Amino acid sequence: MLKIKIAGYTIEVVEDENILANESRIGEYSSYEQKIKLHPGLTEQQKNETLIHEVLEAINDIYELGLEHDEQLCKLSVAIHQIIVDNNNII
Ligand SMILES: [Zn+2]
Repeated sequence: MLKIKIAGYTIEVVEDENILANESRIGEYSSYEQKIKLHPGLTEQQKNETLIHEVLEAINDIYELGLEHDEQLCKLSVAIHQIIVDNNNII
């Protein structure tokens, strides 16, 4: 079982095929369950980007940042994913 620590919380990262309610929804953060759920059919790139996205969802929730979802949180997760992937010599 994979776990990620965010702001003092231990969040389980699990695969769950029931979350694909629609095509745009491939991951989910649940503060109630303290879980990040990822759809099992994702490519490695989708999995990494979705995990970063859901970590940001958790940070946004726990720290009450009030990030707007599509314009801020989605764009931040894509940007952070790109920077990590393209600069793995320093990050
Ligand atoms: Zn989201």
